[in-house]
Parts: sequence; structure tokens; C-alpha cells
Amino acid sequence: MDLGLAGRAYAVTGASSGVGLATAALLLADGAHVAACARDAGRLARALEGLPRTPGARLHIRACDVLDPEEVETFVGGAAAEFGGLDGLVNNAGRSLMAPVADTSRDQWRAEFELKIFSVLNTVRAAEPHLRRSSAPAIVNVNAILARQPEPRLGATSAARAALLNLTRTLSADLAPIRVNSVCLGLIDTGQWRRRYEAAGTAASYEEWSAGIAADRGIALGRFGTPGEVAHPIVALLSPRASYVTGSSIDVGGGISRYV
Ligand code: NDP
Repeated sequence: MDLGLAGRAYAVTGASSGVGLATAALLLADGAHVAACARDAGRLARALEGLPRTPGARLHIRACDVLDPEEVETFVGGAAAEFGGLDGLVNNAGRSLMAPVADTSRDQWRAEFELKIFSVLNTVRAAEPHLRRSSAPAIVNVNAILARQPEPRLGATSAARAALLNLTRTLSADLAPIRVNSVCLGLIDTGQWRRRYEAAGTAASYEEWSAGIAADRGIALGRFGTPGEVAHPIVALLSPRASYVTGSSIDVGGGISRYV
């Protein structure tokens, strides 16, 4: 099915790795123009420049910390100027903080809410005037199943994720007709998990280690997801074909969630 993305322009934050990189790759393959940011400019360029693109699909790369409103303004404004507008935004940049509540400092709590909430407010503020000129504007916030199903040692991240899920619903009303939706992730095989595997110092292979975690967590499909398996639902929500979908969230967790 043609998703109607060719020639449209999308900004993706945290695009040098994992879910953001897979989303940027899928958009370029579908003929969309992509503006991509992350903090490490070298890693961003190395990750993106060799990606296959449909002829005509353009790439705008810029180092940008989503916590810095001026950098975000420059990134989003530069992309809109280069592409002649902006049709969508994927708020993906982020990470999680693993620590029991008792060991989480006030600064760490603040940093989690800064990253999950203010990163989104910064990009939304910068993108809104451009999105209002699009014929099919859409925002997708990359969130976590933790927003509805918190876990031990992830208290600050879970609470900040719940706040982002709530904020996403408000944005869908306040920004309409710009559509605003979430994808809520389970365990996805990206740099975050590779770093945790290395930190665990286990003798098991990565595959054995991750399969053990999937079994412990009761993931119905018995494995971690791949970044590509997240990129497809993100791109489907960005697509003009999803023109009546807003304020909703899609779980991409292989059956990890326990709520109905
Ligand atoms: P990765 O660690 O693979 O990639 C994170 C990306 O975000 C990198 O490009 C990184 O680049 C960028 N980034 C981080 N902080 C900032 C910042 N302040 N400003 C700009 N860019 C930033 O992560 P994933 O692909 O695993 O995660 C993507 C999203 O999905 C995150 O929000 C994560 O919390 C969420 N998620 C992931 C899960 C998983 O199992 N993987 C589960 C649930 C949610 P750089 O460091 O150069 O800035």
C-alpha cells in the first residue's frame, strides 16, 4: 500500500541509533524527506549517510540536544526551510534510568521529566507553525509500556512516561487538526539493551541473555522486538492514510503488557 509519504517532510529526533534510525531509514525508503538529529554529529552522519533512499528523498542532518530549545528551533526551522515545510515529527530521543526509587536523586528525577516532557514540548513548539501549514500534519511520540505498566527499578522513568502519555492526549486536542499519537514500546533490541548486556558482564551470549529476559518478563512472542518492527507502526501513524487516528497509542511489545 502506498502510504502517501513521498515528497513529504518529517523530523526524527534521536535518529543515530535504534528506533529513530530505523524510522528515518523507512521514511527515506518510502520517498519522504527526513530531518534527523542527535547530539553526537559524527555518529549521526555515519549512521544515516549510507542509507538507501528513493530518488528525490532528501536528508537534513544536524547535531541537536532536544533539551536545548534554541538548538531545537534551529534544527526544526532549518529542516522546514530546506524542505519547504514540515509534515510530521517523531519525538524519539531518549533513554531510561534503572534505579530503585530510594537510590534516585532529586536531580535524576528532574532529568527524567526534562527528557520525557520538555524534549517533546521543545520540538512541538518549534514545529507547530510549520505543521499548521501541512495538508496532513502528524506527531508521533515514542513512549513505553511502562507508562501504563510500571516496573521495579524504573520508577522515575515509568512516572515520566505516564506523564508523557497523558500529555500526548492533551496535545491531540490542543493541536488539532495536527494528529498526535503514541507508540508504547516493550523491550526492543537497540543500543540501550546492548549497553545493559555489556554492563551485566555475563558469560551468556547476547541472544541467550535477551531470551532469558523475554522469558522472565512473560513476553508472549518470546523475544525482544527489532527497531524495524517499531518503525513500521510509527510510519503508519505519520501517514496521511491514518487521517482519523489521533490521541491514540499503539503498544509494540510482543505481548508484554498485562492490561486489557
Ligand atoms: P538508542 O539508545 O538506540 O538511541 C537513542 C537515540 O537518541 C540516539 O540517537 C541518541 O543519540 C539520541 N539521544 C539521546 N538523548 C538525546 C538528546 N538529549 N538529544 C538528542 N538526541 C538524543 O535508543 P532506542 O532506540 O532504544 O530508544 C528510542 C526511544 O524509545 C527512547 O525514547 C527510549 O527511551 C524509548 N524506549 C526504548 C525501549 C527499548 O527497549 N529499546 C523501551 C521503551 C522505550 P546521542 O546520544 O548522540 O544524542
